[in-house]
Amino acid sequence: MIRTLETRLCYNCGKPLPPDADIQRRYCSHACQQSAYKARKKKAFLEQRKAELLGIDIVEPPSLPVITDEELASYFLDLQAATCGILDAAEYGSERLRPLCYRVGDGVRSVLLKEGVLNDQR
Ligand SMILES: [Zn+2]
Repeated sequence: MIRTLETRLCYNCGKPLPPDADIQRRYCSHACQQSAYKARKKKAFLEQRKAELLGIDIVEPPSLPVITDEELASYFLDLQAATCGILDAAEYGSERLRPLCYRVGDGVRSVLLKEGVLNDQR
């Protein structure tokens, strides 16, 4: 199997996600999603039991900060600029790094295009 930058892997079993999987998809199947959920629940339960046995109070980690759509859009613009920079730099890069620049730049660019984040201007 040819694995490209666009090949994303299931968070549970590590198999490739379907090629048409949207950007938010993390699991190859509903069964894998359920399996991961059960594993998280079991881990939390075991951690709690272990803490009880050891007499430790578990402190919940602080929740992650909320990221606004505007911040995400800013990240995508940064990624777009970095991708263009990598592709431009490939022209002047060494023989050793030039192919890497093209693979990374083209891979990221094609994902951004496919997801509608980037307009094709090149
Ligand atoms: Zn899976």
